[in-house]
Amino acid sequence: MTKSSKESLRIIPLGGLGEVGRNMMLLEWKGEILILDMGFRLPEEDMPGVDYIIPNVEYLRDKKDKILGVVFTHGHYDHIGAVPYLMPKLWTPNLVFFASPLTRGIILKRQEDFPEQPKLKIKEVYDKSRIKIGPFSIEFVKMNHNIPDNFGLFIETPIGNIFHTSDFKFDKNPVNDTPTDFNRLREISKRKILLLMSDSTDAEEEDHSLSESEISKNLEEIIKNAKGRVIAATFASLINRIQQIISISEKYGRKVAIEGYSMRTNVEIAKHLGYIRADPKTFILTKQIENLPDQKITILCTGAQGEAEAVLMRVATKEHPIIKLKKGDTVIFSSSVIPGNERTVQIMKDEILRQGAEVFHYKMMDIHAGGHAKKEELKKMIKIMRPRFFMPIHGQYSMLVEHAKIAKSLGMKEERIIVAENGDIVNLSKKKVFIERKIVPSNYVMVDGLGIGDVGEVVLRDRKMLAKDGIFVVIAVVDRQTGKVKGSPDIISRGFVYLRESKELLREVRKKVIGIVQSATGSGRAVNWAYVKNEIKEKIGQFLFSKTQRRPMVLPVVIEV
Ligand SMILES: [Zn+2]
Repeated sequence: MTKSSKESLRIIPLGGLGEVGRNMMLLEWKGEILILDMGFRLPEEDMPGVDYIIPNVEYLRDKKDKILGVVFTHGHYDHIGAVPYLMPKLWTPNLVFFASPLTRGIILKRQEDFPEQPKLKIKEVYDKSRIKIGPFSIEFVKMNHNIPDNFGLFIETPIGNIFHTSDFKFDKNPVNDTPTDFNRLREISKRKILLLMSDSTDAEEEDHSLSESEISKNLEEIIKNAKGRVIAATFASLINRIQQIISISEKYGRKVAIEGYSMRTNVEIAKHLGYIRADPKTFILTKQIENLPDQKITILCTGAQGEAEAVLMRVATKEHPIIKLKKGDTVIFSSSVIPGNERTVQIMKDEILRQGAEVFHYKMMDIHAGGHAKKEELKKMIKIMRPRFFMPIHGQYSMLVEHAKIAKSLGMKEERIIVAENGDIVNLSKKKVFIERKIVPSNYVMVDGLGIGDVGEVVLRDRKMLAKDGIFVVIAVVDRQTGKVKGSPDIISRGFVYLRESKELLREVRKKVIGIVQSATGSGRAVNWAYVKNEIKEKIGQFLFSKTQRRPMVLPVVIEV
């Protein structure tokens, strides 16, 4: 290693750069590593059976004892959700976490679902707290977002200061929160910022994000005018939005039923810690909605992204045991759609409309998440911080590129702007910033039920195949002595063709299977059964395709007796 590369900081995004969600970043100084956030993201539409996608921590495999600590910016699942899935790989008795009381509460509550895991040491930090971890010193800086206790990070490193905005927006009239403290940001910038890392989620949006109080007004308009029940779907972690819906409901004499496990849990934690304020009498159980007039009911639930298991989807597909949609209901989608989920959300919306409810979604009125700075605020952040180097973070690649353009439009030189993606190693020194040639593994790790990472590309491909064209199992019993197929091969198929109506097809398949087996066993020599199975798979697959234009998954089973 050369001296100059020793004197540089390595910044390694493992997730969140080139995608929305799954945020996790490493800061590495002389082999010691600080972790910022551990988030997950929801699967895309073409990943059947996958629950979450988490960061790939292969790079940290032999470096567990080099981890200095983990710092969380805020309590959104795309920043904390991967914790229980990463602990089996990263936990050591010395591992220390730093989080705000709310973030800590949400993490610990979730850990209760993983009782076999060791108890996590999470130290509480507050606005203006300062901590020292190895060569880094971190000051927590409260930033507006749509969850309370969101921290930007002012990080002193041996080569200079970094400001990490976390997810943020500037808000002069926030709900449940204090307005952005611009003086403090200016004071921080006076300490000289070597690198600014700033939230790009809304970099493609013009103007300024709406103030939370503005969003509140729009929500109030809808709820005030609703004739019947209000069903408001949002993320369980949008604590401010949840507060708004509760407060407005109270104002118009509505009781609130909270539906969905994660929503109920988060509201409990936030109430307990004083982040959600409401009259205890406001809350009712979902089953109590039957005893109240429709215009006295608000149902707060999860599922605005079309998540298959969430409440709104079950309501839309008429699978919910209590909530049945009807004319007069008003359904509000109060969170923007994450890229990749548009089609599912559209289908769900249509389904809700068919059942007679009215639908308000974020495109019609500004009732969506709105937790992220738009172009004008991003400009302002860069102007305040006046960094030497700039790196857009958090967002799809197009968002990062747009954010880089914004910096350029403010006169920043191209060589001072670094657009990095997951797995890149950003090398930062006092004088320059560049991406190293080597990359670290950052591909998707999929969580499926209780398994972590055992769903690979192959499993996913199989699931897609099964979902599309079904499965076709061929069972042949072969006489070891004679090498002949005994009787007629059995065929089981699901999701491919209706067997009773395809007798001719099945007859031909059976004949072919017998032919394939006997031509392999006919020589009298030892039989390579793996080869025989492969032959059945290939040939029967081709045959079925030629007859039906479908490609079911063919599973050959050969039993020797
Ligand atoms: Zn967030």
